[in-house]
Amino acid sequence: MTETIAGRTRGGTLPSTEALDALRAELRGVLCLPGEPGYDEARTIWNAMIDRRPGAIVRAAGAADVVRAVRFARDHDLLLSVRGGGHNIAGNAVADGGLMIDLTRMKSVRIDPVRRTAWVEPGVTLGEFDKEAQTFALATPLGINSTTGVAGLTLGGGFGWLSRKHGLSVDNLLGADVVTANGELVHASETENPDLFWAIRGGGGNFGVVTSFEFRLVPVGPLVHAGLIIHPLARAKAALEAYAKAMPSAPEDLTVWIVMRKAPPLPFLDPRYHGTEILAFAVCYHGEPEKADQALGLVRSIGQPIAEFLGPMPFVAWQQIIDPLLAPGARNYWKSHNFKALTSGMMDVMIEFANRLPSPECELAFAQLGGAINRVPADATAYPHRDIAYLLNIHTRWTDASRDQACIAWARELYDRMAPHATGSIYVNFIPEDESQRLVASAYGSNFARLAKLKTKYDPTNLFQRNSNIQPA
Ligand SMILES: Cc1cc2nc3c(=O)[nH]c(=O)nc-3n(C[C@H](O)[C@H](O)[C@H](O)COP(=O)(O)OP(=O)(O)OC[C@H]3O[C@@H](n4cnc5c(N)ncnc54)[C@H](O)[C@@H]3O)c2cc1C
Repeated sequence: MTETIAGRTRGGTLPSTEALDALRAELRGVLCLPGEPGYDEARTIWNAMIDRRPGAIVRAAGAADVVRAVRFARDHDLLLSVRGGGHNIAGNAVADGGLMIDLTRMKSVRIDPVRRTAWVEPGVTLGEFDKEAQTFALATPLGINSTTGVAGLTLGGGFGWLSRKHGLSVDNLLGADVVTANGELVHASETENPDLFWAIRGGGGNFGVVTSFEFRLVPVGPLVHAGLIIHPLARAKAALEAYAKAMPSAPEDLTVWIVMRKAPPLPFLDPRYHGTEILAFAVCYHGEPEKADQALGLVRSIGQPIAEFLGPMPFVAWQQIIDPLLAPGARNYWKSHNFKALTSGMMDVMIEFANRLPSPECELAFAQLGGAINRVPADATAYPHRDIAYLLNIHTRWTDASRDQACIAWARELYDRMAPHATGSIYVNFIPEDESQRLVASAYGSNFARLAKLKTKYDPTNLFQRNSNIQPA
């Protein structure tokens, strides 16, 4: 396979066995060719719709292996892909042919509890990071599913339960070690290579391979007040109206997401509701414990729920609570929109589509953003969407390949019906494979032109093109 997105044509055909043997001998990690141990494990990613076969995979043990792999791909004009946690919905981490750099073995997390900083390698998942940081009751804003990779999530922006109070993952990034397209390892921070540092905070994997992230940590937990409040979908409109009224004045240490789906067999939910359509408020309050009742009261006072499972629990446990619904191995097609408000028209469309889910695993996930995220100027980092309050992620999930067409059609129709209410911008980390290029301008927004200039400076031949690709001039 050959890809010519822009820049030089990069091929999938590997060089001679001698060249590969020389690379293998140089590595501290492992080079896997098709059929060799570890090859299938490394190429298997979260979304089971992606089944691609790289020509070779470098399972890097450290930054030196990444340098060698990047130089090898550059010198042999190989199509290059980079895998962190493997959760990218479009499957950019893996290509057919060419060379894949698998970072999953780079798992070190070093916490400095005194300076409140963390150094994190790019194979670390959210759950692994939280376990280290929470030992010291510290955290940094990341996502809501513990198996997601810190690397890809951060490079696109990164938001979760802590973001309304503490900003995006990129807002807490202090620096990074980056292997650039010319195979050099450089440090990027506010004082060293500041333009590169700006670009990797939202520009995705376009600018190099990050081999170490340094994050600012904030005190969190270890106990937070979190859980689920469940309403029948039949009463969703009233619940959504009350939510839309209450949330604009909610404290920033309270974050409430909405999930509309068929109820899983939750132990605290009356079995007669299992498998029926519900609206769940997923709630996390991480502020002062004395103010928890007041904050949680904002959601508890909404309508007449059919179940509640909400109280103090370890932040680490809360970070894993949604994992069973987002486990790897299912077929997935996601689409997403950004919004400035939750309006009555949006509620009607969401309820209509939640009433005709094409599979029991599909859901509408409605994230509450705003707060500290929006206090950062749009041009301060490459992530540009500093004016949105909510994000809808259409989580279309199923297991039977014969349902592909029906499930994807449902997602596309819902996406189209929500479009008139949305801002037209999109979060780069939620772009599906078939829209990777169409939505590039919407993803990088007002920062697109500056990013393109920096792409030309740092990656003029577009070595890093398996991403929502910013083409060099
Ligand atoms: C179940 C699930 C839940 C999610 N929840 C959230 C959430 O709560 N908040 C949120 O913000 N996002 C969330 N996401 C989206 C997530 O941010 C993206 O899927 C992101 O790409 C995942 O990063 P990864 O390292 O796991 O992915 P990968 O597929 O490994 O990487 C994605 C891309 O990032 C680039 N990349 C990865 N590592 C590096 C590196 N070290 N250096 C340079 N480039 C690199 C590459 O271009 C790669 O193709 C979720 C996704 C899933 C599937």
